[in-house]
Amino acid sequence: MRFSEARRRMVVALAREHGVRCERVLRALLEVPRHLFVDEALWPRAYADDALPIGHGQTISKPSTVARMTEALGPGPEDRVLEVGTGSGYQAAVLGRLAGRVYTVERIAALAVRARGVLNRVGAVHVVVRPGDGALGWPGEGPFHGILVAAAADRPPRPLLEQLVVGGRLVIPVAGAGGQELRRVVREGEDAWREEVLEACRFVPLVSGAGQGTR
Ligand code: SAH
Repeated sequence: MRFSEARRRMVVALAREHGVRCERVLRALLEVPRHLFVDEALWPRAYADDALPIGHGQTISKPSTVARMTEALGPGPEDRVLEVGTGSGYQAAVLGRLAGRVYTVERIAALAVRARGVLNRVGAVHVVVRPGDGALGWPGEGPFHGILVAAAADRPPRPLLEQLVVGGRLVIPVAGAGGQELRRVVREGEDAWREEVLEACRFVPLVSGAGQGTR
């Protein structure tokens, strides 16, 4: 099967089986060649709804997770968006089709370098990748209209809450006693944040501090 046909089927399943409604999000997933973000040996599985290994003990998130988180974030065409946990770069590429500018931070330098290469290859020119601790945000480039965290934290990191514009949204998996849940935090004022729980989820942990091989 050609990859474009596999991608079309994936998007139909996201709408039918996973309740993804936003046409802009579905179109972005139709356009981004997910197979290029994994090893060639995994290409036959690139359009199934699975997380896949990307090395360094990390995974590319499932398409349904990427779609639902992107929908929850709701990036507009002029928005500045920060992603924490670049991994393969796939989620960043999807955000790049929807937002004005995307900044993404990855603690494992080798993954950041690889992601940058693939993002260039797919023409995601307004997606900027940087190695480092994303729990600190990207102070020089903020504030952001949206922040998406692709790793589970114990609580939303303060620097990320502070780097939201008023009206901005943070979508983040939070680890609790009963497992992880996906939350959305909306900054409602200078000192006001409203938090809502979206659904159960499963992510690798957000690791703070300098990472393996990071600069
Ligand atoms: N969005 C990715 C999925 C990444 S998995 C994709 O589309 O492929 C989560 C990633 O978060 C891993 O690569 C992990 O190294 C990274 N990570 C964990 N803690 C981090 C931190 N504090 N700062 C930046 N990246 C972090």
